[in-house]
Amino acid sequence: MKENIKILCELQAIDSKIITAENALKSLPEELEKLENKFKTAEESIKNITQRLEQNHKNQKKFEIDILKNNEDINKYENQQLIVKTNKEYKALNSEITYRKEKNAQIEENLIELMEAEMVLENEVEEFKKNLEGDRKILEKERDKIEIEMEKLDKKVEKLDKEKQNLSKNIPESLFKKYQILLSHKNGKAIAPIENGICSGCHLKIRPQVIVEISKQKSILVCENCSRILVPSQKSAEEN
Ligand SMILES: [Zn+2]
Repeated sequence: MKENIKILCELQAIDSKIITAENALKSLPEELEKLENKFKTAEESIKNITQRLEQNHKNQKKFEIDILKNNEDINKYENQQLIVKTNKEYKALNSEITYRKEKNAQIEENLIELMEAEMVLENEVEEFKKNLEGDRKILEKERDKIEIEMEKLDKKVEKLDKEKQNLSKNIPESLFKKYQILLSHKNGKAIAPIENGICSGCHLKIRPQVIVEISKQKSILVCENCSRILVPSQKSAEEN
């Protein structure tokens, strides 16, 4: 029985390593996803600013055309002024010319505003692109690192699984089954060493009589509270 208990402890050590590796295998892709999302957000920002720049350019073009058209009209009216006969007609043309000149002044002000905004947007997009280039390199490096790490962990789990299967052949099948059930139902901890008279699985005090029985290692005893297989503390196990 003492040998069985020793093997159970070894199985638990292997399973604890497997659980740690499997947890890492779960969390690594999440880390990568976080990085990828950050990258995507930066890409979205660039897309957004680029669209605003395009709209800005369209508006500038439209304003330039408006100014040109107004200038053409002004030219046309000024030519007409040369040939009109009455003062009234001359004045009417004059007011058309003034109206268009005022309009052009307003459009030019708007154009300047657009150009200023354009400069801000261009700087912004430049900054984002520069950062994105850095982020892309970090992401690629991190992705490679995580892929290598996951491959390593996969192999480690495979190796540990084999070790476990081989080791399990040395204890009765029924005991291994019991161990496996406890492992899956007790948060990956089937074996609980008694530490200072307390079950290390659920932290409940163990009756002294039970502690004595366990120290003899003549039978498999479970914690009355959490049902985990109780074993002597790691220290006393080493001493024995
Ligand atoms: Zn317990």
